[in-house]
Amino acid sequence: MSEITCPLGINTTVIHAGEAPDPISGASAPNIVMSTTFVTDANAGFSVEGLEEDAAWIYTRWGNPTIHQLEEKLAAVEHGESAVAFASGMAAITALLLHTLHSGDHAIVSDVAYAALSEMTNELIPGLSISITKVNTSNLNAIENAILPNTQLIYIETPCNPLLRLTDIHAVAKIAHDVGAKLAVDSTFATPMATRPLELGADFVVHSLTKYLGGHGDALGGVIIGSREELATLRKTTAIRLGGVISPFNAWLIMRGIATFPLRMKAHAENALVIAHFLENHPKITRVIYPGLPSHPQHELAQCQMHNFSGMLTFQVKDGREAAKAFAQHLQIIHYAVSLGHHRSLIFYLPSDDLLRTSFKLSTPEQLDSWRLFAGDGIFRFSVGLEDVEDIIHDLEQALEKL
Ligand SMILES: *Cc1c(COP(=O)(O)O)cnc(C)c1O
Repeated sequence: MSEITCPLGINTTVIHAGEAPDPISGASAPNIVMSTTFVTDANAGFSVEGLEEDAAWIYTRWGNPTIHQLEEKLAAVEHGESAVAFASGMAAITALLLHTLHSGDHAIVSDVAYAALSEMTNELIPGLSISITKVNTSNLNAIENAILPNTQLIYIETPCNPLLRLTDIHAVAKIAHDVGAKLAVDSTFATPMATRPLELGADFVVHSLTKYLGGHGDALGGVIIGSREELATLRKTTAIRLGGVISPFNAWLIMRGIATFPLRMKAHAENALVIAHFLENHPKITRVIYPGLPSHPQHELAQCQMHNFSGMLTFQVKDGREAAKAFAQHLQIIHYAVSLGHHRSLIFYLPSDDLLRTSFKLSTPEQLDSWRLFAGDGIFRFSVGLEDVEDIIHDLEQALEKL
């Protein structure tokens, strides 16, 4: 076979980027290289300090052929120069924060974002003498007002977990770059089928591969995608040395998942829109939030920033805690479980009072108003799966009857 030379469409990219038939056996599907160490020559260095990008394989925490294939595929999918894979989304986020922020620096972080990131930036990161300001990043004035002379990073998530509130990536990139700061975007909910943050000006994109990219609920993983130069440094300092690298087996599973990712996202979004309409018309449902619905408070931004509205929606009922019990007990197909982005439908209830006490320390009336606008007293976060949409609706209908 000869090498691919022209730019490829997304379906071809997810199948072929980063891979090639095995040169020895001719195997068409990628091998899994589980070896932790590699036989090398007498010139190989023992410190990661002098590690070159094209160095021979030495030790799997430094680099591994299977993990490398995944990284090449992910960089191609996000139209980025380079990618570094991690054992989980949180391992990627930790490495990113410790790469971009040092003692004395300041960062602006979405006041509502993935809970572990929110909790880490409430306690652990400020403990390292890095100051954090939490703002509603959908409000551009709030970001501008939070800028300090030592602001090095703006960190956003769009749509954010769990509210599905959006942030204008292009506008925030401009605010960041005007003051010499970097912009990082957690794009796990959007996925590259909806949004390519690097093309909108972001410096780093983060994904939890555990979600849509892996897509099957059987492998944790994370990734940072960005410029070759930044990621070469990040790989040495906060990936290889801190050690949160992905297992080659998980890398292989996730690569296999990515091959069908564009097809799955189309189906997730189709199912989610049908279900969003069904829920909006159901008498027991008081509110539905889905970026693809005209009723989403930022539907206009969704239409320009998202080319696929993804499979995540939230809805509210009168007594969420009671409804959660009924769903956990009576649902037959939909799993009452955390996580998202799997082929299986997953639902979970998030009560506002709990989350505002544990994860999200919202301090201003504007922040609390925005929370209430999107979440009321609590939301069901629904990751719409790939089952037949009639079956998902029937399952919701029969569980709602028990309320
Ligand atoms: C799940 C998730 C994470 C964390 O990923 P893990 O793989 O569970 O560590 C980060 N950000 C978002 C938006 C997520 O949904």
